[in-house]
Amino acid sequence: MATETETFAFQAEINQLLSLIINTFYSNKEIFLRELISNSSDALDKIRFESLTDKSKLDAQPELFIHIIPDKATSTLTIVDSGIGMTKSDLVNNLGTIARSGTKEFMEALAAGADVSMIGQFGVGFYSAYLVAERVVVTTKHNDDEQYVWESQAGGSFTVTRDTSGEQLGRGTKMVLYLKDDQMEYLEERRIKDLVKKHSEFISYPISLWTEKTTEKEISDDEDEEEKKDTEEGKVEDVDEEKEEKEKKKKKIKEVSHEWNLVNKQKPIWMRKPEEINKEEYAAFYKSLTNDWEEHLAVKHFSVEGQLEFKAVLFVPKRAPFDLFDNKKKANNIKLYVRRVFIMDNCDELIPEYLSFVKGIVDSEDLPLNISRETLQQNKILKVIRKNLVKKCIELFFEIAENKEDYNKFYEAFSKNLKLGIHEDSQNRTKIAELLRYHSTKSGDELTSLKDYVTRMKEGQNEIYYITGESKKAVENSPFLEKLKKKGYEVIYMVDAIDEYAIGQLKEFEGKKLVSATKEGLKLDESEDEKKKQEELKEKFEGLCKVIKEVLGDKVEKVIVSDRVVDSPCCLVTGEYGWTANMERIMKAQALRDSSMAGYMSSKKTMEINPENAIMDELRKRADADKNDKSVKDLVMLLFETSLLTSGFSLEDPNTFGTRIHRMLKLGLSIDEDDEAPENDTDMPPLEDDAGESKMEEVD
Ligand code: ADP
Repeated sequence: MATETETFAFQAEINQLLSLIINTFYSNKEIFLRELISNSSDALDKIRFESLTDKSKLDAQPELFIHIIPDKATSTLTIVDSGIGMTKSDLVNNLGTIARSGTKEFMEALAAGADVSMIGQFGVGFYSAYLVAERVVVTTKHNDDEQYVWESQAGGSFTVTRDTSGEQLGRGTKMVLYLKDDQMEYLEERRIKDLVKKHSEFISYPISLWTEKTTEKEISDDEDEEEKKDTEEGKVEDVDEEKEEKEKKKKKIKEVSHEWNLVNKQKPIWMRKPEEINKEEYAAFYKSLTNDWEEHLAVKHFSVEGQLEFKAVLFVPKRAPFDLFDNKKKANNIKLYVRRVFIMDNCDELIPEYLSFVKGIVDSEDLPLNISRETLQQNKILKVIRKNLVKKCIELFFEIAENKEDYNKFYEAFSKNLKLGIHEDSQNRTKIAELLRYHSTKSGDELTSLKDYVTRMKEGQNEIYYITGESKKAVENSPFLEKLKKKGYEVIYMVDAIDEYAIGQLKEFEGKKLVSATKEGLKLDESEDEKKKQEELKEKFEGLCKVIKEVLGDKVEKVIVSDRVVDSPCCLVTGEYGWTANMERIMKAQALRDSSMAGYMSSKKTMEINPENAIMDELRKRADADKNDKSVKDLVMLLFETSLLTSGFSLEDPNTFGTRIHRMLKLGLSIDEDDEAPENDTDMPPLEDDAGESKMEEVD
């Protein structure tokens, strides 16, 4: 009896994805089976979890299984599970009308040359069925709805029909793949068995394959036991020889029977001894756990015993996932089991956010089976587990650090997580700090650890110097580093936006204070002679400092004689506890953030002038001669604006700055400005190289 069939259009991106899957040549089509089995396993996890609090949820189908049925007669491969099933709206939404965020990302990844086997990571694994099938029919039954059939040959649309006449599933999902002509290999028992072994060995539900068994049977009225044995062992020659003799007694027939054949071991890997598990087994487990197409970078398998007992396997992937810092997806990747029963994934309480890239499982002996998300939050056992997991993760990172190449890979992918850890995890901050790596004035192409920095510290150096900025290039030649470099101190480049946050929390390493080269409070060790000289210069430039402060007004907090610049005329430093120029840049870039902080956190700038710079010395002479020298005023403005730029700030009014520079250019080119703006004449001092000589003499 036909019931009403509804037709739906695939959402546009899904449609695009489908035609890519169908029309592009991929060599790795076999992964479709892994994806479908993984979906079945997830569906079984869900119903098992529900049944922990309500046993009756299993009534419709008490057994939890995955069945695979190849059928050469119809060229179909069928996968059946007794999982949670889908309601009608699940079907419509999940299989066609609502695109996951990963749909587009996956297509972009494919276009960039990614392998189709990555599909599972992007949350669109179901559609991989179309790698091998021209038509897919999904029959599904959820406890809360009736049985429905979804069907599509891709090509833009799918149908959903209520299924009253078909074989009733009780509960679960059946996927029938009508294989393409050139994909018949997936009907071969051997091929399917190998695939399950390769990709789905660690699925924790029994996967059974419907296998065909042909037995030769002899039918006779009076055969004895011995004779029967002979023929069964396949002694064909014997059969021939005996043929004549026994012809009258025996008749040979072929009998075809079917039986379920279990194809996966389900003994959880974490229950075995680590020393008995090889790398390939861990890799297979990791892949089945994560859908990753690559092996893990590192693994830690351990058990904790004592007041509390649990086992865990933790993996670090080789790369960051495409949505590592996607706020919408607040998932972490540790699956929670209680005494071998899967309870849930994405258990927030198990691991802090900064470690959300670590994947694995935890199996607790102590938690109650019927634990709910709500009660998890106050659970003391879970808190202890979490503490242990964090400790073990950090241990694992140190293990990775023993191999430089591996650690570089790790650091490139997850350094932001470590820095987030510095910011958030006060308990482990010191330990995590040892894992940080940076470029520095002395590191060359390599990265250096803070520990190594400390071993290189100069005698008498008590502080670790660093500079923050937008990029290595932007800070390498910063005026702030001039004196530090000259004196041979190493300076660490912190050029990741998150460094500003992390360093704000770290403050010191191995008892050595971390000091910013761009902030106030940078005191370099000076000899008595140097100190004396500095005092003299301070006195000498006191007048100029006052004049500059008057000219700049509120733009700067104060003007002082610097001991950190060597070549540049001046720089702008910020308060020890306020934002650096770099932080100001980062905050401005976050357009939607609350602006209330900006007022008191934004940089209070101190202008530091270099008394040994020729420009400064000339300015001093002019200012000392005439406090109101207009040319001094204009030059001070220009110096201020230039040092905003070289110190990493942005210009509030780039146009005025431009105009000032243009006037300088005209002067440099001896273009007479009288005609255009005669009053400007007195504003501008001559450039050093031209008429300067004579004027300077006048001033002197
Ligand atoms: P993912 O499994 O990564 O979520 P898929 O494209 O593979 O993405 O599947 C989409 C959704 O369809 C799943 O999230 C699930 O809700 C549903 N689904 C797929 N297969 C099954 C199944 N065998 N049983 C129940 N639901 C399923």
